[in-house]
Amino acid sequence: MRAAVFQGPGEITVEDVPKPEIEAPTDAIVRVTHTAVCGSDLWFYRGESDRDSGTRVGHEPMGIVEEVGDDVRSVEPGDRVFAPFVVSCGHCEFCRKGLHTSCVDGDGWGGDNGGGQGEYVRSPHADGTLVRVPDRHADDEETLEAILPLTDVMGTGHHAALSAGVEEGSTCIVIGDGAVGLCGVLAARRLGAERIVAMGHHEDRLDIAEEFGATETVSARGEEAVERATELTYGGANHVVECVGAASSMDTAIGVCRPGGTVGYVGVPHGVNEDGLDLLSMFRDNIALRGGVAPVRAYAEELLADVLQGTLDPSPIFTKTVDVEGVPEGYRAMDEREAIKVLVKPEH
Ligand SMILES: [Zn+2]
Ligand SMILES: [Zn+2]
Repeated sequence: MRAAVFQGPGEITVEDVPKPEIEAPTDAIVRVTHTAVCGSDLWFYRGESDRDSGTRVGHEPMGIVEEVGDDVRSVEPGDRVFAPFVVSCGHCEFCRKGLHTSCVDGDGWGGDNGGGQGEYVRSPHADGTLVRVPDRHADDEETLEAILPLTDVMGTGHHAALSAGVEEGSTCIVIGDGAVGLCGVLAARRLGAERIVAMGHHEDRLDIAEEFGATETVSARGEEAVERATELTYGGANHVVECVGAASSMDTAIGVCRPGGTVGYVGVPHGVNEDGLDLLSMFRDNIALRGGVAPVRAYAEELLADVLQGTLDPSPIFTKTVDVEGVPEGYRAMDEREAIKVLVKPEH
């Protein structure tokens, strides 16, 4: 099969690799029809995080079940399924409490599982991991493109908004205009936020934030951005949704949080270890920090129901589509910020 392989910073190739096979009775093989390049892939692509060369990449698969192991009960060949960015068993202590990312028997999509940006993946723990799309929606292309972000960014935006405590009538500030930030805006609106201030650096992306429900946008940088957002919210928001992970955006998040408020964070932390977090400001103003890697499997059914009834559609985040051979071009386009998020249709 064809699959994308990381060779080193700035270099993704598409290679012939062995097609994954059933290895355990709880496995399923999925023929990938839709997948995506993620903002988090850019960390290793840019050399800002370590990754071994020669490793398969991708972690947002959707497709058709081709084969299942003897113990798989929830899906069968021919079913349309999607999967979160981590594999989870569905029945350990942490899966049961909705913290699937801490599954004691969890796994990723790389290695022998095939990588998510290729023609096939093996899903270990298929019953705990795969989410089935009801048959009547299984071949509706528009619906499938709205479902695909549930593999990661939409669930992650939802986790950020929940972690920040957004609820009916809330005023919140969403930091970041990448795919997760935009999904954070959608999530905040869905949870009933009344005012949503979206902060980012790209006018075209902030336009999408407005389409998604942002009531105000701030495109300034640094101190000026903090001042502007604080002014708009008369002293900061009680709920700050941090969707970047860089040290500077964590500082912005703390800076725009109202005393007694909560910052929900979901961006993979980068640079925060070196620069530290402004704990003293948090201490002084009793600012809470909640969140972490999003257990998107926990939110899949709830968000899927909304997509299927037509009240949730994150698909505008996909601004470019490629086939499997186009994955390297997809990385380039995201790296150069030509595309917000790239949809990959392996058999395009
Ligand atoms: Zn992702
Ligand atoms: Zn588990």
